[in-house]
Amino acid sequence: MNLVVTRVTVQRQCRICGNGRLIPILDLGAQPPANGFLTARQLKRPEARFPLVVQFCESCSLLSLRHTVDSRVLFKNYRYETGASAPLVAHFAEEARMIERQFIRNKSDLVVEFGSNDGALLSALKGTCRVLGVDPAKSVATLAKKRGVLTVTAFFGEKSAERIRKRYGQARVIIANNVFAHIDDVHDVMRGITALLRPDGVFISESHWVGNLIGEGGFDQIYHEHLSYYSLHALRCLAHEHGLVVTKVELVPIHGECLRVSMRKQGVSGASVKRLLRREKSLGLTQLSIFLTFARKADKTRMTLRQLINKLIRKKNTIAGYGAPAKGNTLLNYLQIGKRDIALLMIFYAEEIAFLDSANMNTHSKHSLKTLSHATRSYDDRYCFLLPKPVHA
Ligand SMILES: [Zn+2]
Repeated sequence: MNLVVTRVTVQRQCRICGNGRLIPILDLGAQPPANGFLTARQLKRPEARFPLVVQFCESCSLLSLRHTVDSRVLFKNYRYETGASAPLVAHFAEEARMIERQFIRNKSDLVVEFGSNDGALLSALKGTCRVLGVDPAKSVATLAKKRGVLTVTAFFGEKSAERIRKRYGQARVIIANNVFAHIDDVHDVMRGITALLRPDGVFISESHWVGNLIGEGGFDQIYHEHLSYYSLHALRCLAHEHGLVVTKVELVPIHGECLRVSMRKQGVSGASVKRLLRREKSLGLTQLSIFLTFARKADKTRMTLRQLINKLIRKKNTIAGYGAPAKGNTLLNYLQIGKRDIALLMIFYAEEIAFLDSANMNTHSKHSLKTLSHATRSYDDRYCFLLPKPVHA
C-alpha cells in the first residue's frame, strides 16, 4: 500500500458547527481517488491511496469525511463535463426556466453560478439576464466560454466573491449545483455568498441528500471528492451561522434524490422546509443509531459479496466487470477486488465513450475498452459484476 499522508488533513471538528466530538461511522479502507482512472504508463507505478472514513456530528447532523485529500490531487485530471450527460442538461434546462420565471426581473440582473463546469445551466439563462460562471478547472471553463458563458477561473470564496462584486455588482441569484459536497471551507464560501448576494437575492444549492444515501444503503456514493453528505438539518444550521434563512426546499429526482435548497437574507421558512425537517426526524437522520445501522449493512454487503466472489473463483469461474462509474471504484476497493478476481473490466456506456473520445484521452479504461472488444470474442464469462452508472433522472 502506498499511503500518501502528506496530502491529507484530518477533520477533527465539524465543518459546520465546530463540534469536536465527531463519531466515526464507517471505514471504507485506503482508497485511490475514485475518478483517478490511470493511463497505461501510470498503471506500472504504485497508486496513491488515502483513508476513506465517514463521521457523524450529533450536534448539527452532518455526515462528513474524516480525511480531506488535497484538492490539487483530486481534481488534477478532473474530466467530468455536465454537458456530456443528456439527463443533466435536461434537468438544468428545467432549473433555468424556474429561475427565469421566479427571480429574473430584467436583463441587467446578474446570475452567478460557482462550480459552473461547462456552463450547461448558465447557457440556458444567458439570453434573459447577465450570467457569470466561476470554476477552478481551466479545461471546463474553456468549454463554457465557447458556449458564450463568461467564466472566472477561480475557487469561489470570500476573496473571489469580493472581486466579482466590485467588477460585476451584486447577484440576484447565486447557484451551486452538486459542488457543496466538495467544499472543505464551507464558511469561506458562505461569506462569499453573503457578500455577493443582493439583499433581495436568493442562493440556490443542489446537493445529494443524505436520506437517499442512508435509505438505499449506497455506501458506494462515498468517495474522497464528496467531503459532506447533507441533510436539511445540517444545511439549515450552516445557513443560520451566516444569517441566512432556508426559505424553501424540494427533493428533485437527480442523482437519486437531491436537496434543492433556497436561502435568503430575508424571509421565513416555508411549509416545505418544516415538512422535510419533520420527515428527516422521522427517518432518524438526526440520530446516531441510523448511521451505525447503515455501517453494519455496508459491512455485511462487503462480506457477502466477497465470499461469493471467492467461491466462484475457487470453482474456476471467470468474472467480468461491466461499467466504470466513480462509485464502482469505491465498491471495488472496499471489497478489495483486483485483477486476480475480475478477468476483464470494462464496458462503457455510450455517453462515456463519446466523452472519452472527445477529450482525446488514452486512459486505462479506454485501453481496456479496446481490449474488451477484441476479448469478448474469445471469453465466455459466466459471471458479470455489474458496476452501474447512477440513474440521473
Ligand atoms: Zn456539526
